[in-house]
Amino acid sequence: MESFQTLQGEGKFSGHAAYFIRLAGCDVGCVWCDVKASWEQDISQYRDYPEIAEWLDNAKGKIVVVTGGEPCIYPLETLTQLIADKGFRRHLETSGAYPISGDWEWITLSPKKFKAALPEAFEKCHELKVVIFHKSDLEWAQELAAKIPADRSVQLLIQPEWSKKDKLMPLIIDFIQNNPTWSLSLQTHKYIGIE
Ligand code: SF4
Repeated sequence: MESFQTLQGEGKFSGHAAYFIRLAGCDVGCVWCDVKASWEQDISQYRDYPEIAEWLDNAKGKIVVVTGGEPCIYPLETLTQLIADKGFRRHLETSGAYPISGDWEWITLSPKKFKAALPEAFEKCHELKVVIFHKSDLEWAQELAAKIPADRSVQLLIQPEWSKKDKLMPLIIDFIQNNPTWSLSLQTHKYIGIE
């Protein structure tokens, strides 16, 4: 759908220079989705690997983030190999609703109520980011965290949905203070007005 140079706005790597590749197509259907233009996919959006390699030759920073849409609707082995060959870290952002392919150094799992994450996503992710749209989502976040295998160390992140952040922030602060395995993720790119 698009590719662009920016700073990662969310999660553990918030503030780091990152080159984003956003793959078109998503059938998860989040009501609050802020990239609804990514839901459709069209053959005119297809890019071949040599063209993507050219993008990466001009990319800055150490991280390439593959996001969506839902990127895992595609086989991603070749893309991760290409990113590795160009010397970048390979980061994935997924809802977990589809099998995860490719070799990733950092997987952000952000499950959605609209289409459940597969068990394998909880076994592979490095951070679990739960978007809070309603106060009941805080309870759901704990249910999601319980799906992570006990022998895995995963960053647990609570992130207020952008339009609800002012209303929900007091509840979120209280939740994190009482459940300190969780920490706060903000959409910092929106605060500073970058993509
Ligand atoms: Fe939007 Fe992501 Fe939800 Fe798909 S999974 S509808 S791209 S927020």
